[in-house]
This record gives sequence, structure tokens and C-alpha cells, in this order.
Amino acid sequence: MNETRVLTLWNDGVVNEDDAAVLRRRCEELPIPFDAAAREAVRALREAFLGRDDASGLAAPQIGISKRIIAFRNRGFTSDGAVDGTWSKKDVEILVNPRITQTRGDLVVLSEGCLSCPDVRVQIARFPEIKVRGYDMFGQKVSRRYFDYVARIVQHEMDHLDGKLIVDYEGAVLVPKKKRNLFESLLART
Ligand SMILES: [Zn+2]
Repeated sequence: MNETRVLTLWNDGVVNEDDAAVLRRRCEELPIPFDAAAREAVRALREAFLGRDDASGLAAPQIGISKRIIAFRNRGFTSDGAVDGTWSKKDVEILVNPRITQTRGDLVVLSEGCLSCPDVRVQIARFPEIKVRGYDMFGQKVSRRYFDYVARIVQHEMDHLDGKLIVDYEGAVLVPKKKRNLFESLLART
């Protein structure tokens, strides 16, 4: 499969300065209605996301597009994020210029990983229910509610649009034992 390269903060213990600069940038909104460039950006993110089976979601800046677009699967998880294998292509959602307009419930802490932060997981508190307004892949206005793990993915992907990554949270960082020394110095520099 021809996978689109995902930008990462580090690789093999070395900080990727160029990738990090893009990942840290605040993304711009797409024009509504979409112009040709906006349609192309949405298409590129959707294709990139469909081209991998190791991600629950992907944000445009992760493939080098500094626009406010996210892609994610809206089903196929248990409430704690385990994959239950029931999603297919039709369960992929795109949100453009998303805004959280309502949150509900007590924050839930779970560990999260991110393709842009290889090998680490971080304990992060997220809302179990959110309401989001934005636009779909065709530029149509949408208002949707997400629950549990899908709500978590949407919050995670929306963080990317503001240049925020899991390592920016205060929660415990989980690193494979044999890489612990490596990550102590690495995380201090990102
Ligand atoms: Zn991520």
C-alpha cells in the first residue's frame, strides 16, 4: 500500500525539527464554500487516512497540510478504545473547521497514542460527550454529538489543528522500558 508519510516529532531518538515546526503550527480554516484547493486538501486527508489501518484518526497537519480538517472512524471501538473490528470505509468521517460547542460529563482519563509521537502513550483526561459544529467533506454544515472513545478521538484530532500534541498534556507518559532513557532527553526537547 502506498502510505502517505505522517509527520513525527521525533524518529529513532532524534527530534524532527522540520516536522515539528509544521505539527506545532496553528492551522487555518478552509473557505466555505470550498474552493478547488480546499476540495483537494479534504481529498488528500481522506485518502491518507483510508490508506492506513493503524490509526483511529488523522489530522491534516499530520500530513503537512496546515488546514482545519480531521478524519476519523466513528465506530468500531469499545468504550476504552480497544478495536472491535466492526468499522468499514463508510464509517470514516471528515470534519472541516470543527468547533466544540458543548461538553458533557465528568472527564475520563485514558492513555492515548499518536502517529506523530511514536512509541509513547500519555494519560489524558477528555470529555465523554461533545457536540461539534463544522462542515462535512462536501462543505455542508453539520452539527453532531460524539460519545466515549469517538469523542476522545475527535478531541485529540482537534488538538492537532491548534498545534497541540499528547506530550503537551500533564498526564503520565508511558514509554517502553528499553527506550526510557532515550525519551527522557527527547521529551525535554519537544
Ligand atoms: Zn495524534
